[in-house]
Amino acid sequence: MSQVREIKCPHCGQWTMWDGKIDDRCLHCNGFLETRQFSREVERKIRGEAARERNILIIRPEDGPLKRLGKRLLNALRWWTIIMQVLFFVVVTIIIVLISILPG
Ligand SMILES: [Zn+2]
Repeated sequence: MSQVREIKCPHCGQWTMWDGKIDDRCLHCNGFLETRQFSREVERKIRGEAARERNILIIRPEDGPLKRLGKRLLNALRWWTIIMQVLFFVVVTIIIVLISILPG
């Protein structure tokens, strides 16, 4: 499938070898030859990773019972962390207010 061609580098304008791969670099300036395709590929990768990150705690129908339980626990833990942080902030605020109100 790989077909070596001689193409003009989009970065330095020198003739270089390109065999059609996305991550092929110029022999002269080491720049990526298929820049548009490469950036698309990177973008797709990043988007895929972001989606995976977002979906990591979403329970899917194909998940097994153990995976579901784990995801639920992680979700609960995440919520508890947020709730505890808010509670801590509220309690500290109340203590500060009480100290400033109390005489003495
Ligand atoms: Zn080049």
